Amino acid sequence: CIFCIVDDHAITAGGDPRELPARTFDLAVSFLAVGLDPDKALMFVQSDVPEHTELAWLFNAVTPVGDLERMTQFKDKSQRFESVPAGILNYPILQAADILLYKADAVPVGEDQRQHLELTREIARKWNAAYSEEFFPEPDALISKAGRILGLDGDAKMSKSVGNTVGILAEPDEVWARVRTAVTDPQRVKRNDPGRPEVCNVFTLHGHFSDSATIERISGECRAGEIGCVDCKKLLAESIADHFAPMRERAAHYRSRPDEVREILDSGARRAREIAQETITEVRHHMGLDWRSAVGTPSATGSAPGAAGSTTDAAQD
Ligand code: SF4
Repeated sequence: CIFCIVDDHAITAGGDPRELPARTFDLAVSFLAVGLDPDKALMFVQSDVPEHTELAWLFNAVTPVGDLERMTQFKDKSQRFESVPAGILNYPILQAADILLYKADAVPVGEDQRQHLELTREIARKWNAAYSEEFFPEPDALISKAGRILGLDGDAKMSKSVGNTVGILAEPDEVWARVRTAVTDPQRVKRNDPGRPEVCNVFTLHGHFSDSATIERISGECRAGEIGCVDCKKLLAESIADHFAPMRERAAHYRSRPDEVREILDSGARRAREIAQETITEVRHHMGLDWRSAVGTPSATGSAPGAAGSTTDAAQD
């Protein structure tokens, strides 16, 4: 498996560049904390492998603007800007490059990214049709059971930009501070009102983090008005904090050894570049960007009918 920390993507959202290095490092620590084994998987920082941005540029040649404008995320994100940066529009092309550079055949994504993955497949199809049949695979989406987790507001997907998250590596008191703000069944006003766990996002989150006995107990006591929402949320906060305890310990281990993390990322980037360079060399060849291969051949003297003029124009451009 290949895990890429996408700092080239991060800059499209703006933000303070002085914070980006620390955020990049923190994400590497988080990956290691949740169990990524660098002996089995590749992990690296996107900007350490410049072939990502090069392939994205080359994919511009086969990607219709209309396809990009149709992306739901583009429509959502572009509303946040007075003048929309081109990076917001082209973001899915870079995603396609991230995936296809390694000829990945499957990508774990959330439901909200399914559309971008479909565009990746479309870009692969178009590029293959234009330049080299069956060169790029069409990757499949791997959607997990927890494909779309609603945030604490019970309304939007859990997302840091919306501010409705619980941090995986948060300490137990921070987890409680976040979970206590969670929205519950709106019809439940008083502690003894019967509740509807099936419409309550806190209950859905219990389903991901609590054991089956706790889930069953809450379901019954909520319907009977025997448990208050605050107590129910306390149980959820405990379950979440317990679930992530081993990860918090591993994160502390790696935070105290930054050189180890740096070596893992450097080694990952070296290995990733070997694969990436092989792909990009072939892509450049198929797209006619290896001009040295033509030096001294008849077509390089301008004898190829119809092609010489356009080639010269392109070279001058
Ligand atoms: Fe939701 Fe729990 Fe309150 Fe029931 S008791 S409404 S499941 S938070």
